[in-house]
Amino acid sequence: MRILIVEDEPDLLDALKKQLQSSGYSVDGCGNGLDAEDYLKMATYDAVVLDIMLPGIDGLTLLKKMRAEGNTTHVLLLTALDSIENKVNGLDAGADDYLVKPFAYDELLARLRVLLRRHSGQTTNVLEYGGLVMDLNSRTVTRDGTEITLSSKEFAVLEYLLRNPGRVLSRDKIENHVWNYDFEGGSNVVDVYIRYLRKKIDTGFNKKLLHTIRGAGYVLREEK
Ligand code: CA
Repeated sequence: MRILIVEDEPDLLDALKKQLQSSGYSVDGCGNGLDAEDYLKMATYDAVVLDIMLPGIDGLTLLKKMRAEGNTTHVLLLTALDSIENKVNGLDAGADDYLVKPFAYDELLARLRVLLRRHSGQTTNVLEYGGLVMDLNSRTVTRDGTEITLSSKEFAVLEYLLRNPGRVLSRDKIENHVWNYDFEGGSNVVDVYIRYLRKKIDTGFNKKLLHTIRGAGYVLREEK
């Protein structure tokens, strides 16, 4: 597994590189957003640990550029700014996860393992409902044969819904299932991802599958 760390505090960059290398990862590191762009063009990474406040271009701008260019590499954002708004901005920009400084290395390693586990080691199951087909092995989704490209979090939310068709799932349930750490109550992260998903799986189709049940949550259901 190859990881790029982008962090402009030299001591932290050094420490992160050593930690990740000793955990068996292949690691590149740089301290400038523009250098990071070059690294991303030169190599394919399994994950990027990306600081937000950077010289050159900042982490959020770089992340948005990556996603706009179709780069789906897992990105774990690092930031000193601990607020719901910042988390949502990061997730909106296409981040897969978010870690607030200061953090414990063990937590970073655990979060990376979660990201990378989703990346591989799937079972060969196929989930189907209402014309949606999710292949957990190839991590592809189609609706009526049309391929739908999802981020890893969108995929995880949809996988959970597909495992529970017709069942109303609360925000908390979805959040706890997909984000298996404390993401702070009151965050609208689930709503954000449901909005993304709805756009991707229902737009352009006559029958809507993803429904909001006011005050209760969300359900994947074929309307009569
Ligand atoms: Ca910084």
